[in-house]
Amino acid sequence: MTAEAPARPVVTRIAPSPTGTMHIGTARTALFNRLFARRHGGRFLLRIEDTDRARSTPENTEAILRGLRWLGLDWDGDAVSQAERADRHVAVAHEMLEAGHAYRCFSTQDEIEAFREAARADGRSTLFRSPWRDADPATFPDAPSVVRLRAPREGETVIEDAVQGRVVTRNDQLDDMVLLRGDGTPTYMLAVVVDDHDMGVTHVIRGDDHLSNAARQAQIYRAMGWAEPVWAHIPLIHGADGKKLSKRHGATGVEEYAAMGYPARALRNYLARLGWSHGDAEFFTDAEAEAWFDLEGIGRAPARLDLKKLENLSGQHIAAMEADELVAAVLDWAERAGEAPVDAERLARAAPLVRDAARTLPQALERARFAMIDRPVQPDEKAAKALDAAACGMLRELTPHLHNASWTRDALEAAVGEVAAAHGVGLGKLAAPLRAALAGRTATPSVFDMMTVLDRDETLARIEDAAARA
Ligand code: GLU
Repeated sequence: MTAEAPARPVVTRIAPSPTGTMHIGTARTALFNRLFARRHGGRFLLRIEDTDRARSTPENTEAILRGLRWLGLDWDGDAVSQAERADRHVAVAHEMLEAGHAYRCFSTQDEIEAFREAARADGRSTLFRSPWRDADPATFPDAPSVVRLRAPREGETVIEDAVQGRVVTRNDQLDDMVLLRGDGTPTYMLAVVVDDHDMGVTHVIRGDDHLSNAARQAQIYRAMGWAEPVWAHIPLIHGADGKKLSKRHGATGVEEYAAMGYPARALRNYLARLGWSHGDAEFFTDAEAEAWFDLEGIGRAPARLDLKKLENLSGQHIAAMEADELVAAVLDWAERAGEAPVDAERLARAAPLVRDAARTLPQALERARFAMIDRPVQPDEKAAKALDAAACGMLRELTPHLHNASWTRDALEAAVGEVAAAHGVGLGKLAAPLRAALAGRTATPSVFDMMTVLDRDETLARIEDAAARA
């Protein structure tokens, strides 16, 4: 199989095992698969690999769906449950038995262990070679058996991987893998191949921790005479220290990133760049990613998680948002974070002021705080210091000027400038108490911008409240 796109319509999939969270590595794999399908006008499917009944609880499955939905990685059609397809997996194993591509093996675990020990003692390969591979069915005992693949013993199994290149496995290094266990249940290796085939998957894009499975899975495709997918095994994500990503490196779950206040579109952009590149593009939209994504752009070296870069991209995406998009994103974040309900209308008014300086959604909300609070404004400790007697005097002097000013940014700046000049101080000396009066904080958007958002009456009332403090 070559890495060129086959003539079949493109179908990709994400096949998560529900282990409790949506890992960002899985999210990135899902994103790559979805982008690839979109690029080629194909379909992106979801299969839940829920055969491990102990771990595959409804809650864990729900966490996967929630993570994918939050990240905007919706899938085509209904999610497929691998566990529910067990009968089909068994049926394929029986077809393989009938066609001679598989055989019944009656060796017990003890016999296999004994085989391995003897092989070790003789310095031979410990790869199990079943004595039942070519046995006459007339000699079959009335005992439990497993079904094994009759794998080729000579030659090589070659995978042309779109990322890793040509991957060659010597067939004398692969055993006859089990397809059906002693209790008749299908193995994972069989289930994956049958499901991918039945779902029409044309491109298997997944983490390279599955690369060693590909040769074995290819053997099943080849035995069944099924069209093999294009394989693309992407290097796993590493932490900043170059080691495989783990909890030690910080957040690994998609929902943790959502909770930190990164907009989904920023995380998509960041994850797309984690192991894939398009020229020197760093900041891009979903539409651009869908137009550009290709397997050639996936690197062979593991990408390193870089939170600074994520923050930076997040800030750029927030700055590029329309006011209503920013409001929707902040509302979503606040609800997830269990914050007090956010007044969407007030936030929308402040949105143009907060976009440029916020790198996360909570930062945007914090900058919009001046527009969300009601009088009397409670200054924090730092802001209270800016409201000393001299400052309050200047604020009192300023109010008649503001009463008369036309309510534009320029006119407001001129009015404040006049009072500052009359006191022989710079604009900054008045800006600090104004920030304290209007927002109760020392770090805020520009005072003139805040005034235009708050409007004349509210601005004057807040200034008068503050001026009355000293
Ligand atoms: N269920 C596997 C995992 O979560 C993915 C299998 C595959 O993509 O083939 O790692």
